[in-house]
Amino acid sequence: MPVVTLPDGSKREFDQAVTVADVAADIGPGLAKAALAGKVNGQMVDTSFTIEDDADLAIVTNRDDDGLEVIRHSTAHLLAMAVKELFPTAQVTIGPVIEDGFYYDFSYERPFTPEDLEAIEKKMAELSKADLQVQRKVLERDEAVQFFRDQGEEYKAEIIESIPGDEDIGLYEQGGWADLCRGPHVPSTGHLKAFKLMKVAGAYWRGDSNNEMLQRVYGTAWSDKKALKAYLHRLEEAEKRDHRKFGKTLDLFHFQEEAPGMVFWHPNGWTLNRTVREYIRERLRENDYKEINTPQVVDRTLWEKSGHWDKYRENMFTVGDEENRVYAVKPMNCPCHVQVYNRTLHSYRDLPLRLAEFGSCHRNEASGTLHGLMRVRGFVQDDAHIFCTEDQIQSEVSNFIDMVFSVYEDFGFTDVMTKLSTRPEKRVGDEALWDKAEQGLKNALEAKGMEWELNEGDGAFYGPKIDFDLRDSIGRVWQLGTVQLDFSMPERLEATYIGEDGNKHTPVMLHRAILGSIERFIGILLEHHAGSLPTWLAPEQVMVMNITDNQADYVRSVRDSLIKQGFRAEMDLRNEKIGFKIREHTMKRIPYLLVVGDREAENNAVAVRTRAGKDLGSMPLEQFIEGLATEVASRGRTILED
Ligand SMILES: [Zn+2]
Ligand SMILES: [Zn+2]
Repeated sequence: MPVVTLPDGSKREFDQAVTVADVAADIGPGLAKAALAGKVNGQMVDTSFTIEDDADLAIVTNRDDDGLEVIRHSTAHLLAMAVKELFPTAQVTIGPVIEDGFYYDFSYERPFTPEDLEAIEKKMAELSKADLQVQRKVLERDEAVQFFRDQGEEYKAEIIESIPGDEDIGLYEQGGWADLCRGPHVPSTGHLKAFKLMKVAGAYWRGDSNNEMLQRVYGTAWSDKKALKAYLHRLEEAEKRDHRKFGKTLDLFHFQEEAPGMVFWHPNGWTLNRTVREYIRERLRENDYKEINTPQVVDRTLWEKSGHWDKYRENMFTVGDEENRVYAVKPMNCPCHVQVYNRTLHSYRDLPLRLAEFGSCHRNEASGTLHGLMRVRGFVQDDAHIFCTEDQIQSEVSNFIDMVFSVYEDFGFTDVMTKLSTRPEKRVGDEALWDKAEQGLKNALEAKGMEWELNEGDGAFYGPKIDFDLRDSIGRVWQLGTVQLDFSMPERLEATYIGEDGNKHTPVMLHRAILGSIERFIGILLEHHAGSLPTWLAPEQVMVMNITDNQADYVRSVRDSLIKQGFRAEMDLRNEKIGFKIREHTMKRIPYLLVVGDREAENNAVAVRTRAGKDLGSMPLEQFIEGLATEVASRGRTILED
């Protein structure tokens, strides 16, 4: 008689085998209605799954990530069913879940049109309203092949034929239409209420350009209408904030075909890039890091020793020379940092040693995955490696966490999520060291009283890690900072220090980055602030403009004194209407626009406008400069206009 243990530890005993749906009903009618699937001993199953022996069970509803996955997957089936009803000669192929939704590939005699998508979506809504039962059937493989062949579904038959003959094939049937699937699925189509078809694109069968071109229909699906609406709003906002657009309108950077995934920084973009680096450099100084710089092109033998040649080769650009030596353009800085460490004899008294580099790295990312600054082939990391003793792990990590949070706050990010990942199944290093390291990380997190999430088994093979994710102003989450312990590389590359006992020991190495790729971080910054960068980061902070030629000399002197005091100021002396100039510089998101007429020139004053269109009126130049200085120094915590 099965005893079912629920996630809260409570147990329910049944005197016969029960389905997941039975257990849900036993707990309460609300849950019976909400149940989408079950997780039995960690395995996702349908609500119709029968539990015969003692088991752990979690009822999956639309409040869980697992539930959302089931909804998306089931909506892909709903899409396929709708297509078959409207276009009976279309053949179905595959329909996986992707980020935020799903797609389904169809073979059809012509491309689907936007009107087709509308009709399909309408049909899907009808099928959902009909609340069709979704039932699982199991067939033998050859039976299943015949089943699909009889219906003219050649692609499905081909997929099933490639499955070993002794395996049973799961089919899901709803309203007389069946599809091959492992499941699980929602119990009935009525659970699929919040979806939208997004677009259609061509895709080759099995991703091979020699094969037939299929119609790939993309859709999104959510737990309820509210979540769908929020998602669509987020997409709209994201499009408005696309950093690639700001690359053009703010004249920051461009890409071109001759250097895929590598950035051409324009003067304003490079100023922004340098401002970010200078800021980080300042923080490094405060936190006792030493900045170094290491070669970009390094002989393969070092990468062989570090293990990258073996595991990472396909992502590395390589070059040869006339002596037949093979080099790799470095994809990461770590092995080079160990070379710097190894050039000096170290005692435990010298540790921790913190070596930082704005490390220029190149990775051969697939061209299809490149995306503006967010995914590039050439980038610079705000990288550093800390060499320390086992006993120093906790305090080093603790200091680093403080640094991460204060840096993010300076850039305007306050919603930070922290995740600790612990030992995976495949790993190096002895258990005592893992225990100590994981405990050290936990202690560091706990001592701060902050919230964090545990990702058990998600660490790297060489050590546990803490990751930091940012939520931006429109709710998107970006993985950014990381600190990873490494028990492997220092040993492989023979790094040592002399311990208190007079013997040689291997130091622990911490890989850590706050911004990660500076290119990507600038992309995130631009989207988070919708192009209106905080004044301390804006490449042009102030634009001084005259109304008539009379004030040209005064404009020059205002601009010069701003520059002398360390601000980024420009002037616009063009013989254009002042309204025209203001509009143009507002579009460039320059924080402060100073307009001077005769009255300002006479009184050593400026009329101040913000890029948001606010008129702050006339004020003495001194007063403006003082306010600007406070705003920049406080990194926007105090704003001039307040
Ligand atoms: Zn399925
Ligand atoms: Zn590293």
